[in-house]
Amino acid sequence: MRDLATLPKAHLHLHFTGSMRLETLIELASSARTRLPSNFLDGDPLRVPADRRGWFRFQRAYDTARALVRTEEVMCRIVLEAALDDAAEGSRRLEIQVDPTSYAPFVGGITPALEIILDAAKQATTLSGVEVAVIVAASRMRHPLDARTLARLAVRYAGDQPGEVIGFGLSNDERAGQTSSWERAFAIARRGGLASMPHGGELLGPDHLREVVSCLGPTRLGHGVRAGEDPALLDAIVASGISLEVCPASNVSLGVYHSPDDVPLRTLMSHGAQIALSADDPLLFQSRLVDQYEIARALGCDDAELAELARGSIRACLASPTTKRAWLAEVDAWLAAPDQVPGAQSDCPEASDLESRAVAR
Ligand SMILES: [Zn+2]
Repeated sequence: MRDLATLPKAHLHLHFTGSMRLETLIELASSARTRLPSNFLDGDPLRVPADRRGWFRFQRAYDTARALVRTEEVMCRIVLEAALDDAAEGSRRLEIQVDPTSYAPFVGGITPALEIILDAAKQATTLSGVEVAVIVAASRMRHPLDARTLARLAVRYAGDQPGEVIGFGLSNDERAGQTSSWERAFAIARRGGLASMPHGGELLGPDHLREVVSCLGPTRLGHGVRAGEDPALLDAIVASGISLEVCPASNVSLGVYHSPDDVPLRTLMSHGAQIALSADDPLLFQSRLVDQYEIARALGCDDAELAELARGSIRACLASPTTKRAWLAEVDAWLAAPDQVPGAQSDCPEASDLESRAVAR
């Protein structure tokens, strides 16, 4: 079993506040003299049943964390720490999503809020070696007209370089509002050159997914995992070239599936879905990027299949074709390198020499 932290990959579903390190949150809460909900401090991931009122507990916890992000300095720190954590886990590319509306009151408006994130993404790219691009995400909890305003703002900063806006998303409770209400906002974003990356198919099933696909024209679906319940829909999604940002720990923490064993990753893979395993909100779920690959391994994926999942994440990202080719070659090199027996790794050159001589004999 090869080391999954060295497997080159891309991280395509990570929320700005949800990416925060727990130590950072504790420090911010202490400075602001704010008491954190116990679920941040009890060492257990937040677990709530999404099909009941549990989602609101998740949302309250998220809102508590978000309310502590009030300065440019903190915003830059969150992006940099997310990139550094990704770098330590073999990520070559982070596409982080943010709704700048939430931070606008503290930094002089929605435009400065977005510019702070974009500048931070550029700087984090330089400091971490991980390409950091930005997805501007509207919220289902706000009026669809706000989403149009946000889409127009996002288009002004559209580009294909790190530190630029590459996509437009729609996050928060999938059950809120009519998906068609956001059609115009996504049309503005797509006309402006942004990829469509809405959430869909985590809390709600195939009917909802059909609506998201037909109204919002996704390039990638945030989650989409519930497509596993409808083989014809899943095949149609795969045939349309829509990638799935699958976040197993999030699914389990939100009660969509009882345990990681129930996440239909294998079903999605067997239908040829292009999958980008992602962490979603590690601050709340206490499970980062490599943990998602560990879950896939526990579901029976061997190293060749895990490499293919990593290739899927790279193919599904919006980096340049040349860069993606280079990363795909790195995945091939990871897989071609000798397998390691866990616990048998040694830093001692003599021992390594002995092992290789033994193999040669
Ligand atoms: Zn999400």
